[in-house]
Amino acid sequence: PSNTRIAVVTGGNKGIGLEVCRQLATGGGVTVLLTARDETRGEAAVEKLREAGLSGDVIFHQLEITDDPSIARLAEFLRARFGKLDILINNAAVGAGEYVQDPSDSSATEEKLRGLDQRQRLEVMFSGVRETYDAAREGIKTNYYGTKNVIEALLPLLKASSDGRIVNVSSEFGLLRLINNEELKLELDDAEKLTEERLDELLAAYLRDFAAGEVEARGWPLYFSAYKVSKVMLNAYTRILARRHPELRINCAHPGYAHTDMTIQTGPLTPQEGASNLVKVALLPEGGPTGAYFAMGEEAPF
Ligand code: NDP
Repeated sequence: PSNTRIAVVTGGNKGIGLEVCRQLATGGGVTVLLTARDETRGEAAVEKLREAGLSGDVIFHQLEITDDPSIARLAEFLRARFGKLDILINNAAVGAGEYVQDPSDSSATEEKLRGLDQRQRLEVMFSGVRETYDAAREGIKTNYYGTKNVIEALLPLLKASSDGRIVNVSSEFGLLRLINNEELKLELDDAEKLTEERLDELLAAYLRDFAAGEVEARGWPLYFSAYKVSKVMLNAYTRILARRHPELRINCAHPGYAHTDMTIQTGPLTPQEGASNLVKVALLPEGGPTGAYFAMGEEAPF
């Protein structure tokens, strides 16, 4: 038996996820399962990493996080091959909206963004996004429920590790201050009282409010609203899980604003820099924080 750690990265075929795979495999002592929903894109990504001459092992496994049979196949593969999982990085997510105007039309954009701070710039950038009900529902289904289902299926394997860790890739768009309903904000910040059932209720209420055109009236976050709600709830879920499984380190982390397909290649950080902010949390020394939020690699308030 070797003491190699086993890591699973979801959405590993591109962007930040691909760089997380690269960094975990480069550090040594970690065998990385690069997963992707599309076999061709996933295999190509693994090939790319191998060509770069990685010292560690990178293995491809298909994983569509919204597909239970796909999740079950990954769990079974891990069980049969390694009997455990040490690190789970839940990176896969969708933006839950689409751009109506060509975002690369940068002259207009730069004009509009001049003099604004980064946060204001984001709001303006994302105000060009069209959010349909279907995209919102898909965003909640993928970013929240997909991630949750992956965690539930892999928890027994994480418990078989002597030092199991989960990093839920969150966002500063998941911060509670984006919620304009004080009561809801307080409720979501009360980690002791939160339950999964309550999060289910709130997510259903959000989608009902979305359908009724009441996102703003009810104090839900604006611009990329479903994406933000999915990450707010993922943070809350992370805190519930961490309390329930004190033997694991379960945290959420904002990688920083990095240029990837999700941000239409905008943002000051490279995907590598974003990834290193996540890898740092995944590799925190034993006995470190759990149920915490990290921004740019440092613990920060929810
Ligand atoms: P990308 O869009 O570049 O990559 C997203 C990845 O998720 C892709 O591999 C995509 O696969 C995969 N994915 C999407 N849906 C599914 C699914 N249902 N099943 C399996 N895989 C899926 O985004 P980023 O690299 O920018 O984002 C990575 C993470 O970082 C996300 O959680 C995002 O919310 C978070 N984040 C990113 C920030 C940034 O500035 N970039 C800022 C804050 C947070 P496919 O190629 O098949 O679509």
